[in-house]
Amino acid sequence: MQYSVSFPGGAVRYLHNTHFAGIDEVLTPANTIIMTDNNVAQLHTDLFKPFKAVITIPAGEEHKNHTTILSIIQQLMEHKAHRKTFLLGVGGGMVTDITGFVAAIYMRGLRFGFVPTTLLGMVDAAIGGKNGINIGLQKNMVGTIQQPEFILFDNELLSTLSDEEWSNGFAEVIKSACLFDAALFNELTENNIAYYQQNMAALSAMVAKSVDWKNKIVLADERENGMRKLLNFGHTSGHAFETVCKIPHGQAVALGMLVACKISEQFGLEATVTEQLHTLLQQYNLPVSIQADTNTLMDVLMMDKKRDNYGVDFIVLKSIGSAEIKNIEFDTVKKAIEEFTHAGDH
Ligand code: NAD
Repeated sequence: MQYSVSFPGGAVRYLHNTHFAGIDEVLTPANTIIMTDNNVAQLHTDLFKPFKAVITIPAGEEHKNHTTILSIIQQLMEHKAHRKTFLLGVGGGMVTDITGFVAAIYMRGLRFGFVPTTLLGMVDAAIGGKNGINIGLQKNMVGTIQQPEFILFDNELLSTLSDEEWSNGFAEVIKSACLFDAALFNELTENNIAYYQQNMAALSAMVAKSVDWKNKIVLADERENGMRKLLNFGHTSGHAFETVCKIPHGQAVALGMLVACKISEQFGLEATVTEQLHTLLQQYNLPVSIQADTNTLMDVLMMDKKRDNYGVDFIVLKSIGSAEIKNIEFDTVKKAIEEFTHAGDH
């Protein structure tokens, strides 16, 4: 399945169910530099051979920073990359975020495309044009909004993904289901990771559905002035969990969604929804509580881009498939976080 979506910031071609070899249709390998991380590079040495060069960055969120960006820019200069050089990000969300960011700033802009290799990348990080890097403890503090020319989805690339990374990806699928799609929520409830791993058609349909939801929102509000903020469901406290507890993005979002549901109960969300989400997260091997110091989490959360003097913008659920934005006082956030955190042994 192939289609294009025209965002205000540029058109994106979606190549679903397409083998990596099909990339020749959308770029010229000899003119393309691949950006990837060391794990993905090791897995796909042969696939990358026809390309002009491969720039490999160290895997891990802690490398999504300005030091890595400067090193990449240096390497692009060594490879004599010019304004007609194409950048192809092949990897998880960390790689696609960095690729989009570098492509936006190197010589004031290069053409670029993505091949997401994690489920999280396919359903979320590679979609929507946001590319950011972390500054110190602050996630995605600096970034751009720039659409890739294309996104190629080769589901076979997921075959090497660890169980943990499958779970992380499902956190974002569960997020879309909570926000927009009660039918998808039910589908996820009836299945599990093994089902999607063994059923390519179900996996592709689920990825395509998640991509569609994100595209609809980005189409309506590419620059996040309103509706796009909904996609932050689970991310406000999630980013604090990710930074403080040093856990993967998906796990942090899982905890963040529970916190958001707890807060939502004060605005009328039925407590049974929080319980359903709790069960679903466990079904997809995602955490439902964590050892952490609430004050440290709050210190990070209070630096959030979405804060004001009174509190922070939170996405609250009205029911499965329906959400709204509310400014929540820090004290209320802290109490909700305490429900899902516990102190250490001493
Ligand atoms: P990641 O890119 O760090 O990848 C996770 C791990 O999986 C890494 O160790 C990586 O080397 C490995 N990996 C990647 N592909 C693999 C494969 N096919 N087989 C085996 N291992 C593989 O993490 P992620 O979960 O993909 O993405 C998280 C990042 O995405 C965060 O930086 C987050 O901020 C960002 N993100 C961005 C957006 C956005 O809109 N731009 C949205 C969501 C998340």
